Amino acid sequence: MSSSTQLLTSILDANETYAEAFARSDPALLQKLAKGQSPRIFWLGCSDSRVSAELATGVAPGSIFVHRNIAQCFHPGDLSASAALAYAVHVLKVEAIIVCGHTGCGGVRAGMQAAVESKQREDKGEKVEPPKPGSVEDTIAKWIAPIKSLASTQLPSCSSDPLEALELAHLTDSHVRDTVKAVADSDLVRAAWDEGRDLSVHGWVYHVGTAKLRDLDCGWKGVGVRADSLSRPSTYAESEPRE
Ligand SMILES: [Zn+2]
Repeated sequence: MSSSTQLLTSILDANETYAEAFARSDPALLQKLAKGQSPRIFWLGCSDSRVSAELATGVAPGSIFVHRNIAQCFHPGDLSASAALAYAVHVLKVEAIIVCGHTGCGGVRAGMQAAVESKQREDKGEKVEPPKPGSVEDTIAKWIAPIKSLASTQLPSCSSDPLEALELAHLTDSHVRDTVKAVADSDLVRAAWDEGRDLSVHGWVYHVGTAKLRDLDCGWKGVGVRADSLSRPSTYAESEPRE
């Protein structure tokens, strides 16, 4: 048996255990979920395998409608993210939207590195050849382009080691804030506010080393109206190394 077959067999075994335990502990919830869903939260998070919306928040199935992509982006014209947001806000009528980044994000780091490499080549007067259309490099470069642009604005004008001067944690927070703003400024969210709906958009960061969530206090609950702050005292600086 190949190792992937063994892996998948163990996952199906685990599912049987999970299903039996679920049916035993909360049969009413299983029946309710079989009839439909009524989540109150929409979660836009990273695809990273370490950051699960349900596990991080400890909620029951049916509580959060989730869309995940690399580095929780909300690009203009991204039909997948827009469709998920549209369905969550206007069909499921969620009350809160969480944009959740996380520490050690590979997508944000790639954007940071791309910004640094561009600047270093620029400083040397080197021309940068665009990657071959459709290649791995081209696909990733297009996806992280907004993060690269954001990182470029944070690069110091002169530094012997620009990568060292940038902080992944700082860029991660900035990217979450930008994404919160983009979601809040979207026609989909504004339409809900125009209808007088009670809907707020928040930015959180999940700390992989502590499994704790941190509110960035950058939320909105209407056009130009700040959402209530959810931030609380934290000890993240002591519990995680500087990124
Ligand atoms: Zn990530």
